[in-house]
Amino acid sequence: MTTSRKIGPWRRWAGIAQAAIFVGLPFVRIRGESALRFDVGSLQLHVLGATLWMDEFFVLLLGLLASTFLFLLVTFVWGRIWCGWSCPQTVLGDLTRSLADERARKRPRPGKLALGWSGLLLVSVVFSAATLWYFVPPGEFLADLAAGRLGPVLGWSWAVLGVTLFLDLAFVGGRFCATTCPYAKLQGVLFDQATLVVAYDARRDAECIDCQACVRVCPTGIDIRDGLQAECIACAQCVDACLPILGKKGKPSLVGYFFGAPGERPRLLRPVVVALGVASLLAVSGTVVASVQAGRASLDLTAAFASRFQPRLAPDGRVVNAYELALENRGRRSVDLQFSLRPAVGQATVSPERITLAPGEHRRVLLVASAAGLGPGPVVQAELVARQPGGDTVRAQVPMFLPRTP
Ligand code: SF4
Ligand code: SF4
Repeated sequence: MTTSRKIGPWRRWAGIAQAAIFVGLPFVRIRGESALRFDVGSLQLHVLGATLWMDEFFVLLLGLLASTFLFLLVTFVWGRIWCGWSCPQTVLGDLTRSLADERARKRPRPGKLALGWSGLLLVSVVFSAATLWYFVPPGEFLADLAAGRLGPVLGWSWAVLGVTLFLDLAFVGGRFCATTCPYAKLQGVLFDQATLVVAYDARRDAECIDCQACVRVCPTGIDIRDGLQAECIACAQCVDACLPILGKKGKPSLVGYFFGAPGERPRLLRPVVVALGVASLLAVSGTVVASVQAGRASLDLTAAFASRFQPRLAPDGRVVNAYELALENRGRRSVDLQFSLRPAVGQATVSPERITLAPGEHRRVLLVASAAGLGPGPVVQAELVARQPGGDTVRAQVPMFLPRTP
């Protein structure tokens, strides 16, 4: 598809929007927590109001599977759209382009150069801090920074990230895409004959005046007229560079976005695309269902027979067993819990009968149960119930052993 309109402004706005979302998202709070943050202290992942605990990270694996299918689907259909429009390397490179442009001049102007370096420094400082805000609440980070008590772990992490980003943007830039990026190396196997690419329309070769404008603007330093190359990140800067040259002749750019080779009919519904579309849909639906299920439980209970406490008979003839309980309050409020034990036959009482768990508290409890009327034994199944008045009730199956009589 040849174009007579510039693509650069659209890319710039898309880049600004993505940068704003990246910096702003940690400040968005849903149900009292960051919209997206992995809390290192409690090993909890907060996603759009839901909280995933370590033992629910299978949801994350499902999410990774869904992302992989979506990534393959997007690459098969739209090629390196991620590289050219969304990759942080490209987006931040575009935001700091004024410095690169000034340095490329034969005689860089000192004032503009100083402004460019300052802008680059600011971008490095802000974006490296924003990366940390996906692990530490930004309010806490900024308050600690203002009070001068950021701590060595956060301070060093910020410094290392900031310096790496600064050096990358200042001295590596698009060369990273051409030489190091693993995603770029994958492209060869993820493209087919109908994938969207930036291409030179060789059918109009006679119109090219060999002005080299498309080569000069290319961040990876290639000549798109030589055909599709692994280094091309589909940023379309060569498209915009050719526009004013051919525009003088009233013609569209010689370079453009094409599904497959210039002149071919776009073929969107290919078997591989349909298969990846179905797989993505299933994986995304599975992730949504699993995260809703995981987010629903606010209380976790595991119960096991306490082997260090031998079953015994009390003086009044009641059978006494004990259980190790592991309880976790996954909510943001403290909860009062009432325990009860229901054997298949007979009745039982438990001690303690109640406990209170603070928000996020994980506690181990030794629960002693005494029962009467269990029958001849040697074992009776029982249901242990932890009830939260007005809230969740969780249950676990446990055995009640009758002690051997001498
Ligand atoms: S060839 Fe064009 S689209 Fe490809 S990287 Fe260079 S400027 Fe960007
Ligand atoms: S900018 Fe256009 S006219 Fe100039 S060399 Fe590139 S393709 Fe040819």
